[in-house]
Amino acid sequence: MMSLTEACAEIFFAYRSLPLFQKLLDDSGISAGDVNEDSFHLVPMTTKADYRRGFPAKAVNQSEWDPELVFTSRSSGTTGERLITVVHRHLLAERMVTTVRMNPLVERQVLGRENKRVARFAAPNCSDIECASPFTAMEDRNLPDGTLVLPVAHDLLATPPAIVDQIISELSGYEPAWLYVDPTHLAFLTGRLAECGVDRLPGKAIVVTYSMYTQPAVRALAAVAEAVPVVEVISMSEFGWMGIQCPNGAQHLNTECFHFEVLRGGRPASEGELGELVVTSIGDRLSPHIRYRTGDLVEIRAPQCPCGLPGPIVRHHGRWSACLRSSGGASVTPRQVDDALADITELSFYRVDQPEPDRLRCRILVRDCDEPKVALLVSERLRELVPSAGDAEVAIVSHIEAERSGKFSYCGGLGPEGGDLS
Ligand SMILES: [Zn+2]
Repeated sequence: MMSLTEACAEIFFAYRSLPLFQKLLDDSGISAGDVNEDSFHLVPMTTKADYRRGFPAKAVNQSEWDPELVFTSRSSGTTGERLITVVHRHLLAERMVTTVRMNPLVERQVLGRENKRVARFAAPNCSDIECASPFTAMEDRNLPDGTLVLPVAHDLLATPPAIVDQIISELSGYEPAWLYVDPTHLAFLTGRLAECGVDRLPGKAIVVTYSMYTQPAVRALAAVAEAVPVVEVISMSEFGWMGIQCPNGAQHLNTECFHFEVLRGGRPASEGELGELVVTSIGDRLSPHIRYRTGDLVEIRAPQCPCGLPGPIVRHHGRWSACLRSSGGASVTPRQVDDALADITELSFYRVDQPEPDRLRCRILVRDCDEPKVALLVSERLRELVPSAGDAEVAIVSHIEAERSGKFSYCGGLGPEGGDLS
């Protein structure tokens, strides 16, 4: 595996240039000179907390620091603690280009000078500028790279009609080449646009990322995006673009720019199994990330895809901290919850919470339907999924709040027992 050789080289570099990693490796008793493809798995893993505490003195290679060439991202942690990451702009661009090339359907819509106008619609924190706030002028939300950050309310489902009007007018004035969006945000917007008589979105492609692409969002986007490709990208504010759906719909990881591991209780997950995505950057001279625990769960799929791409294929299952806890300590992922409710087409938004191990609460927003019947069906599905929680309390509501970060989460479980998957 080519990326493993390169990941070993990244370890040597990080050891020489990042005090944070030097200390971790020294403490582990492993000599940097002994790291090779066979011993890679013994190298200590790093976490968000390491990089948060180490920033900037211990997590950045000061000799490569040049404010002109560096992009600074602030991630919207669900815990409310913000993580600052710096990365060279050229490396971010390379990650995006090599990722999008894995999908020729959107490559030509997204790359190239003529496609610089992008409209972004996501939680305010995700847009890197505080000014996704609707109170700012459109010019202030226009980034130097050509991205227009659309205004958004912090609590997505409480977005007032005035902001929706503002978005409609900004989109028609800006005529973006493509859209870069959180799928739940766009699902909400398409519903409001339909009420305003707007039945199509501008642009030649829709790239969804930031959060899980759930079935209600898939349905909402299908209604407005008949003519344009909608493609899901795996991205993180720490890394930029890391993977993309190919034209066959399989989610491929970008192994040109990253070395990936999927780990379950410390060992590599096998095909069909779930594990945590652990990432080592390749060629990052500014703030290399070594065996970085993302906190995201993925399932390893069959390695072959008719598209012929070499990278591993995964299915994204959401944050591991959001998993529901079932009997015997088993974890039920946000994706498994979504799969269980997938065919209940009346649902437009839902949120499942687990205040205690034996209790599930589910709030749903529905379209015109036989409400008690739908609520009963949701309750039955959740009971099948997490039998130990008994009958889920299902309530039909008119609003579900976003997380403190501004993201909308469908699932708020207790997380795996003991903090790891079993
Ligand atoms: Zn493929």
